[in-house]
Amino acid sequence: MEERKCKKCGEYMSYGLYDYYNEDWNGVSDIEKMAGYKCFNCNIVEFDEDIIENLDPDFKIMKMLYAKKRGAESPIQPIMISKVKNARMAKDIEPKVMADVLDFTEQRYGSLERNNNTPNVFLALQLEKIIGVDIHDLYEIVYIPTTLYNKLKILNDKFEVIEGIPELLDRNTEIDQEIKELKKDLTQRRAAIKRLVNEEISEEKKKNPKLSYTPKEVRDRQSDRIKDDEVNIRIMDTMVSLRAEKIDINEQIQNLTGNSKDPDKRGKKRPKEGEIERQDFLLRLGYCIDLENWERAKEIYADELDIENAKASDNDATAIDDENLDN
Ligand SMILES: [Zn+2]
Repeated sequence: MEERKCKKCGEYMSYGLYDYYNEDWNGVSDIEKMAGYKCFNCNIVEFDEDIIENLDPDFKIMKMLYAKKRGAESPIQPIMISKVKNARMAKDIEPKVMADVLDFTEQRYGSLERNNNTPNVFLALQLEKIIGVDIHDLYEIVYIPTTLYNKLKILNDKFEVIEGIPELLDRNTEIDQEIKELKKDLTQRRAAIKRLVNEEISEEKKKNPKLSYTPKEVRDRQSDRIKDDEVNIRIMDTMVSLRAEKIDINEQIQNLTGNSKDPDKRGKKRPKEGEIERQDFLLRLGYCIDLENWERAKEIYADELDIENAKASDNDATAIDDENLDN
C-alpha cells in the first residue's frame, strides 16, 4: 500500500473504506463504501482512480438505462455475447457428450451453440453446471451505442450488409413513424369528439334543465360517436394495414436470413432465380453474437464502441397507451 500525503495540508492520509458518492449518479444507486485515502485534517478523501475508472462505465450505462422513457429509443442497446462453444472446447467436452447429458439430439445442441434460439434461464444454468464454468463465461451482456447496434443489425456473419435488408428495415422505421403520427391524429380526433359531445350535452341541459346524465352515459355516448366517426375508422384501418405490412416485412427479413418459421423456406438450400441467397445475421435473434465475431467487431468498430459518445435519438416519447387505441 502506498503512502499518500494530503495535497492541502501535507499530513499523511489514512487508507480505509469511505463513503463514495458519484454526482452523476443522482441518487439512483450508490456504492456506500469504497477504498480510498482520507485526510482527517481537511476531511478530504481520494479514491483509487483505477477503481473509479472501472466503476464509471457501469454508472454511465445505468444512468442511461434509467433515463430511458417508454417508447423512446435508448442511446445504448444490450447485446449478448455467446461463449458456450468456447467454454465447452476449453474444457475438452465433445458436443455429443453435451447433447447426451442434456438429452438433446446433436443437431439441437448444435443449434444452441449457433444461437439459433435463446436458451432459457433453466437451460443456461444447466450449461453452467455441466461445463463447470461461471454463467458469465457462457453468456455476457454488453451495451453498445444504438448507432453501432443499427449497423451490426444488418450485417451477415461475414460482416457484409445483407442484400435487401436495409430497405426492409428502412420501411419498418418509416411505418413506425407513420403509426406514431396516426396515433397522435387519433388522440386529437377522439378528444375533439369528446369535447363535441360534452358541448351537446350542456346545450341539451340548457334547453331542458331536468335532464341528467350519469358519467357512464356520457362516456357511452362519446365512445359510440367515436366508433361511428369516419375519420376515426379511416385512421384505425390505416393502422391495421400498416401493422400487417410490418408483419409481412418481418417475415421477409426472416426468410432472407434463413430464420423463417416456415420449414419449406428454412430448409431451402439454393435460392431460386430472383431470390436472395439466405444468409445468417451477425446478430442472431437480433441481439446475440458469437465470441469470435464479437472480437472482430470490437476491432473493426473500435472507434464507435465508446458508450460515452452514445447519443439518445431525438424521438420524442409520445406517451399514448396502445391499450386505449386498439379497441
Ligand atoms: Zn489535509
